[in-house]
Formats: sequence, structure tokens, C-alpha cells
Amino acid sequence: MHNDEHYMRLALDVAKAGVGQTSPNPAVGAVVVNGGTVVGLGGHLKAGEPHAEVYAIRMAGEKARGATVYVTLEPCSHYGKTPPCADLLIQAGVRRVVVATTDPNPLVAGKGIAKLRQAGIDVDVGVLKDEADELNRMFFHYIAAKTPFVTLKFACSLDGKIATATGESKWITSSAAREDVHRLRAQHDAILVGVNTVLTDNPKLTVRFGEKRKNPLRIILDTKLRTPLDAHVVADKEAETWIITGGVSREQAAAYERLGVRVFSMPTAQIDVRDVLRLLGEQGVMSLFVEGGSRVHDSFLRAGAVNEVIAYIAPKLIGGRGAPTPVGGLGFARLAEAVELDIRRIETIGPDIKIVAAPKRK
Ligand code: NDP
Ligand code: ZN
Repeated sequence: MHNDEHYMRLALDVAKAGVGQTSPNPAVGAVVVNGGTVVGLGGHLKAGEPHAEVYAIRMAGEKARGATVYVTLEPCSHYGKTPPCADLLIQAGVRRVVVATTDPNPLVAGKGIAKLRQAGIDVDVGVLKDEADELNRMFFHYIAAKTPFVTLKFACSLDGKIATATGESKWITSSAAREDVHRLRAQHDAILVGVNTVLTDNPKLTVRFGEKRKNPLRIILDTKLRTPLDAHVVADKEAETWIITGGVSREQAAAYERLGVRVFSMPTAQIDVRDVLRLLGEQGVMSLFVEGGSRVHDSFLRAGAVNEVIAYIAPKLIGGRGAPTPVGGLGFARLAEAVELDIRRIETIGPDIKIVAAPKRK
């Protein structure tokens, strides 16, 4: 129905405000409509705080009775940190609930909807489902795979170079594009780079543009602990840092641990990306922003571990046979093995182009 889409879009807009700040929970929005008037709005903005429905019903007060509630995700039916929202909607006496998408969380999956229906409430499911799924794609992936959603990001010239042949890389793209990268950092739980990127660029990997937000966790893949003790990621205390190694001695690790860095030893001498993702999943990392360098990108692609690719392309030609490109390592020897992508969006940011793509599902 036309009206349903209109109100669901409003609920999605509210949910969007929470994207990137609700981990490990999904971002959810709810709208209460009675007699053609919006009488309540609510969003889930932070884990541990009330769910979207609670705020929306509270705002609606007595007007919730007989109302229609639009919610971007199936209302919960279990006791978590807060009592079940399905019960709240029943108690409030709403007449109808419109749900965009069901909750893949096995504790909820379909049970919230069943509970509402048992109480005699009309429930419609699937209004703007694709948009709601897209909004919480990281959460949905994490729930299903138990490993983080991986976004692989790079910035390059129009001829596909991430640095000059002499190694100069600051800056290929505009400050507007870099600002966008900082916004994306803030939307992920963790940022990951290879030790060579730390050695050559000494990046801070913090969120420095826009409103001050919590910095994501910083993760370095560093088999033999070559990360310098005075690197920003170790010394600056701006964010938590974990170093993932191929197995190092306690003494070696201790120097980093004294500075507050956690050092993990992986089960194999060569760090396997799949083991890294399993570890991060167990540690509650729902989303991972992989920012280079080219060898790390190669490893993630080879492991089939990439969910989204974001490329910033500057209208510049750098050239040079030896100039590095976004994906290094061995690459794929045959075209048939290349990672094929579907382009989701193309935008211009300042003078640059941003492409958002996702590997084709096989
Ligand atoms: P990386 O930063 O990708 O680091 C690679 C190193 O990480 C490896 O040599 C290895 O060192 C360690 N490592 C540990 N485990 C793995 C694993 N499973 N897979 C891959 N690497 C692993 O190095 P590159 O040299 O490829 O890239 C660095 C360059 O890229 C820099 O010059 C930087 O400026 C540039 N860059 C450009 C970006 C852009 O978007 N324009 C973004 C980021 C970097 P070890 O064996 O010692 O553990
Ligand atoms: Zn709830």
C-alpha cells in the first residue's frame, strides 16, 4: 500500500540515524500512526538502551491504542536487556503492525510476529524489505556467519595506482573523499591494516573528520611483531589496538602489552584470514574496515572474505610499471578466477568518483 511505504520510509530514516552506533545490535526505527497522523517516533540508537518501539509507543501514549506501528525490524519476543517489544505493542493495544524485515537472530526469528498475531494484531511483513536488509547488512551477516562483515576500501588514480613508483601516496584523492572515509571508519567496529602499511605510512586510523565519535578498534596483521613501539597505533592511546601475529614469545608481546596493546598468536605461522575473522567474530567484532595495503587486500579476496568493496578514484594518471595497485600479492592467474563484482552505487565526491560494489554471489 502506498501509505505503508510512506510511513515505513520514515521509520527507515529514523533507523538510519543509528547506523554505525548500535553494534552489536541492529539499527531500528519505529513510527506510530493513528487516524492518518504520526503520533510517535523512535529509534534504537545504542546497545543497552531502549528499543525503537519503546520510544515510539511512549511518545504516542494513549494514542497508541488502535494505531498502526511501522517497524523496520521484527519486534523482539525475548527478554534481553529490555522486556520484549512484542509484549509492549500488545499491552499498548495497537491494532496493526507493519514489519519491513524479519529478525535473523534465532532468539527472535518469526517469534515476535507470531506472538503479535496470537494476540489478534494484524501483521504485514515485507514493506521496503530490501532497504531494511541493506541498512542492517552488517548485523545480518554477523548473525548468520558469526564473523564480521568485511568492507575493503582503497583510493587510487584513474589508472589504478595507489602510490607512485617512488612510494608517494599522500594524497591521491581529495579531502572530501578522505572525509567520507572517516565517516565510514566510524560506521565499523574495527579497522584492519597490514604491518607494511604501518611501517610506510604510520597511520593513526582514527576518526578525525566530522563529529567526534568513538574510534573503532585498530587491528594490525603482523606475523613477527615488526610494528614499531613508537608507531601511532601503539603509542597514541587514541583507540584500542590489537596486533595479530603468527606466534611470538611472551617477552616480545610484553613490550606491547605494557602499552595497552593486545597481542594475539594465531594457530599457524602464516596468518590465515579465515582464522582472523573467526577470532574477531568471537570477540564480538561485527564489522571490519580493511584499509590496505595491497597484500592484505589480496589475502582477503583470496579467502573469499570480502562483503563490500569501496573504491575512491581520483581523476589523475600516475603511471609507472612499478607503481603499486590496490590488490597486490599474487593476484589471480586466470580471468575465470577474478573476483567479479556487482556495482551498487556510483557517486562523485568533490572531484573524485566513489564506487560501492559487492562480490557477485556464486
Ligand atoms: P600491507 O600493508 O598489505 O602489509 C602486508 C604485510 O602484512 C605482509 O608483508 C605481512 O608481513 C603482513 N601480513 C600478515 N598476515 C598477512 C596476511 N594474511 N595477508 C597479507 N599480509 C599479511 O603491505 P603492502 O606492501 O602490500 O602495502 C603497503 C603499501 O600500500 C604502503 O606503501 C601504503 O602506502 C599503501 N597503501 C595505500 C592505500 C590506498 O588506499 N591508497 C591504503 C593502504 C596502504 P609479515 O610477514 O611481516 O607479517
Ligand atoms: Zn525490542
